[in-house]
Amino acid sequence: MVATPGWTLDEQGRAMSKSRGNDVDPVDIANRMGAEIVRLWVASVDFREDVVGSEKLMQRIAEAYRDIRNKLFRYVLSNLEGFDPGRDAVPFEKLQAVDQYILRKAWALSADVIQWYEEFAFHKIYHAVNHFVVVELSAFYVDIVKDRLYTFAADSPGRRAAQTALWRIGEAMVRLLAPIMSFTCDEVWQYLPKTDSRATSVHLANFPEARDVLGEGVPAADAGQQEDWAKLLAVRDQVLKALEEARNQKQIGKSLEAQVKVTASDPFYPVLERYKPDLRYAFIVSQVDVERGPSRNGSGHLAVEVAKAAGKECERCWNYSTRVGEDQDYPTLCERCIPVVRQIAADESAASSKS
Ligand SMILES: [Zn+2]
Repeated sequence: MVATPGWTLDEQGRAMSKSRGNDVDPVDIANRMGAEIVRLWVASVDFREDVVGSEKLMQRIAEAYRDIRNKLFRYVLSNLEGFDPGRDAVPFEKLQAVDQYILRKAWALSADVIQWYEEFAFHKIYHAVNHFVVVELSAFYVDIVKDRLYTFAADSPGRRAAQTALWRIGEAMVRLLAPIMSFTCDEVWQYLPKTDSRATSVHLANFPEARDVLGEGVPAADAGQQEDWAKLLAVRDQVLKALEEARNQKQIGKSLEAQVKVTASDPFYPVLERYKPDLRYAFIVSQVDVERGPSRNGSGHLAVEVAKAAGKECERCWNYSTRVGEDQDYPTLCERCIPVVRQIAADESAASSKS
């Protein structure tokens, strides 16, 4: 294969030249922003076309770099403390629905990225990874699992499930991005949990396979699950819109102050009913009610009502519950937090009586 590069142009499409003063000097960018930014810029452009370079574009690339470093790698690493994959990893079938969903997304992305490397289509890698990190991981998955990661007991299945997903995503992404963000990825590699037969450097490791991202024997795709999530995400969009309106009208502040009632007909209702326990977490509200609505000649009726959540706010997890105040020892906590705090207190007193 012969790859022919195009010209390097500025944002107005003019050829770069020193005399015009519109040139972007990679050495200068490397000195000021770091060599990783230059590599990421080179990856971000389709080098077979004319390539655009400018100070403004470099700032955007630097921002994308920071997103990958902070919203992906730093977030993953900061939530894996005390997580030993050999002991704590949760098998795929025991993960929560949203964990399974994001891992299948991560595997689909991995498969695409590997294909794009083979085609020298590095700009596709850049854009798809960026989208995954900012939209699917940070604004969706992380937003939902924060509750489990920060408020569940350290060793609870729910928290271990979220950690498993983050660990697998981190392991996959660090390998996939190593050719582009070489220094960053090698550094991240050192901090990810060590497992048997793991290479000492990310540059000696292979690209991930489906079993690395999903687990041994798990089918790479699940059409039924994908259809379910397409519907759930469509409902979630509507819910987020309704919450935004309620916020604008000062009906609620943060979304956990809300309860949501979704009235839906086929094809949404059966899916919502099936995923009911997951919905309050997927919508990040305190309570969700689902009701079957009238079918309008098969066109899928959907309505969302927002009201103030019932009960009081739990001081610890900020969810609202009608059961806050029931417990004499912990009158400001909810029924989810009380057993966790009680366990922490018991562990602490056991530890102090030992010493
Ligand atoms: Zn709570």
